[in-house]
Amino acid sequence: MLRFRSIRSRLTVTFLLAILAVMLIVGFFLDQLIENYYIKSREDNLVRSGTLAGRFVAGQLKDQVDPVRLSWLAENFGRQMNARVIFVNRKGIVIGDSVIVGGLLGQLLDRDELTAAFAGEKGISIQYSELSKQKVMQVALPVQEEEEGEPVGAVFLSASLQEIDQIIADIRGFLTLATLLAAALTGIGAVFLARRFTGPLELLTEAAGKMAEGKLEQRIPVKSEDEIGRLARQFNLMAEQLNYYTKNLRNFVANVAHELRTPLASLSLLIKSLKDYEMETEQRQEFLDDLDHEMDRLIALVRDLLELTTLEAGETRREHIALDELIRDLIKQALPRFDRQDIRLLSDLPAGEYMVAGSSLQLRQVLHNLLENALKYTSPGGWVKVTLWREEEAAGVKVEDTGCGIPEKDLPFIFERFFRVDRARSREMGGTGLGLAIVKETVEAHGGRVWVESKEGEGSAFYFTLPLLRQDVNNY
Ligand code: ADP
Repeated sequence: MLRFRSIRSRLTVTFLLAILAVMLIVGFFLDQLIENYYIKSREDNLVRSGTLAGRFVAGQLKDQVDPVRLSWLAENFGRQMNARVIFVNRKGIVIGDSVIVGGLLGQLLDRDELTAAFAGEKGISIQYSELSKQKVMQVALPVQEEEEGEPVGAVFLSASLQEIDQIIADIRGFLTLATLLAAALTGIGAVFLARRFTGPLELLTEAAGKMAEGKLEQRIPVKSEDEIGRLARQFNLMAEQLNYYTKNLRNFVANVAHELRTPLASLSLLIKSLKDYEMETEQRQEFLDDLDHEMDRLIALVRDLLELTTLEAGETRREHIALDELIRDLIKQALPRFDRQDIRLLSDLPAGEYMVAGSSLQLRQVLHNLLENALKYTSPGGWVKVTLWREEEAAGVKVEDTGCGIPEKDLPFIFERFFRVDRARSREMGGTGLGLAIVKETVEAHGGRVWVESKEGEGSAFYFTLPLLRQDVNNY
């Protein structure tokens, strides 16, 4: 049974219908064309031969008429042109008939075609003869002694058109055969085409089904460069990305769980100790301080995670921000903390317009994270410097320090979530391992770029750029 829901059957049925329609239209017009052509050429033929016969007998119609001779002539002409030939005189009386036995010799032939012929025209008609059960063409032509002269009689020709029915029947037979052949070829072609299309689609369906079950390692062989090939290529790309993101997400969740476990375990231990043991007020205070510290770390971690999620959702507000003012403001706020640790906080902020578009809250966070890191990883006596510069279409910011620096092998991973060079040290300093990831994602969400240069033991320099607002944008 034909399943019309499959591409194969739909293709086959569509092709067959198209072929049938084309063949029907072609058949109809071919019938008409051939019939018209045949009738026209038969008519021309009869008119030409009739005129010739008329000319031949013209002299005899005027004078003494010899019906036997005229009938003999009519029979000869009739045989040549495959028609019945009748000669009539000016009164319409038959004076020669190619049908000798049972002919119309001596009878009056009263036909409309003859009326036309006597008026000097040619009279033509096509009729269905009940007698012979076929279509016949009748042609009457004037017989004139001299050109433009009065007709002295007429030639009446009657020819069967049965041949055309045979020709049309033959053509129809041929067309039917051609249709059947085309249909068979189309059927085979459609099956092959459908197999070519549906084969990869079935593979795709199967692979997509497996992916839905969580098996993300699906790949489809790309065998062509057509739409199906492109679909397969795109599917593979999607599968790869999905696999990558899923792995990333899994890693991230595992990291988050791991990061939460340590402070939660400390908190649990501290609370149990406070609950279960009698303590001096001083010792109790120490425990409470630790508890407070752990709580702060947990809060910082949750805050950073939230920050990252917001960045991932792409929720960046677009306000106009003067980057130089934002930096000045942050430096002012950070100065007391740097002073307390005996680290000098320097800046080089040349005058000029540094307008960028984005979220001032998020950009503050970027600078805050970089300054806090510089502060965390620089020893007392050192210095930290913030430099602002302007490129053609971007503003650049550098935060450099004379801190511990980053080993070269760790530099490629420094912006990854939860990456720390020294896990214990970072934790001790209250770091979450997310600060630089937030920096990178924020800067990139603002259309900028971030990078680092560092030498272990000498210091580090973190750079980022942000696209400047164009003057015309600036003015609106
Ligand atoms: P953390 O909360 O641990 O500081 P970050 O993502 O901010 O996390 O930084 C990742 C790691 O990069 C840090 O643990 C530290 O090892 C290294 N790092 C960041 N900034 C500096 C810096 N200015 N000097 C030296 N090392 C740095």
